[in-house]
Amino acid sequence: MTLLRLTHVGKAYANGVEALRDVGFGVGDGEFVSLLGPSGCGKSTLLRLIAGLMVPDSGEISWTGARPELGFVFQEPTLMPWADALTNARLPLDLKAIARPEANARAAAALKRLGLTGFECALPRELSGGMKMRVSIARALAAKPKVLLMDEPFAALDEPTRQVLNDDLLALAREDGITVVFVTHSVMESSYLSDRVLVMSPRPGRIIADIALTQPARRGEDFRLSPEFADSQRRVAKALLVPA
Ligand code: ADP
Ligand code: MG
Repeated sequence: MTLLRLTHVGKAYANGVEALRDVGFGVGDGEFVSLLGPSGCGKSTLLRLIAGLMVPDSGEISWTGARPELGFVFQEPTLMPWADALTNARLPLDLKAIARPEANARAAAALKRLGLTGFECALPRELSGGMKMRVSIARALAAKPKVLLMDEPFAALDEPTRQVLNDDLLALAREDGITVVFVTHSVMESSYLSDRVLVMSPRPGRIIADIALTQPARRGEDFRLSPEFADSQRRVAKALLVPA
């Protein structure tokens, strides 16, 4: 079932910069879709439009049924520096005025799923970059979203940390049946994570390739070294190189 559909979406900013032109694609329920393109091609703009934080100038963005609960994760963990991990993870529940005991329990459970049990009382400055991102993901998951919108969440992390987070994200998304729209400029990351990679042209961003990947349910180290993964990366990299 198609959960989200964009048709002929265009967006220009007030300063005249045309960020997106005639963007169209569908996202299936439970699918993991990456938006891959060079810096400035309109990926964040597209994600903000899907989130409903901005409206398109032209075209349409529609959900099958009511708009589902959305979760957001940005490149910066955007944690409140004065608040501990539990309080940060609880934020969306506090915004929904969920009673404190229940909110605490749900936030603690989300932190546990991200491997952060024992760090509930830690402040952001006491956590590594990877752990801060884990709190940020726990915060998004605490609200039990149906769709997760992620904007280059792991771009600032070192390679080994990023790989572990890639695997953990896949497992969590699968467990919850979450649909993920994942923005990245990494060929490797998009090829590893996605059921489909939507390749974008330089600005004004358009979808120039829609690449379906056959992914094993279990990825991990063996898959990273496999010819199948190398082949996926080759296909994605080639599409990115096509002149716009
Ligand atoms: P990406 O996330 O792919 O790097 P963005 O969606 O952030 O790209 O930006 C697309 C284009 O729109 C860029 O040229 C950027 O400079 C421009 N842009 C982004 N946000 C704004 C804004 N608020 N006002 C004006 N121009 C913007
Ligand atoms: Mg961006």
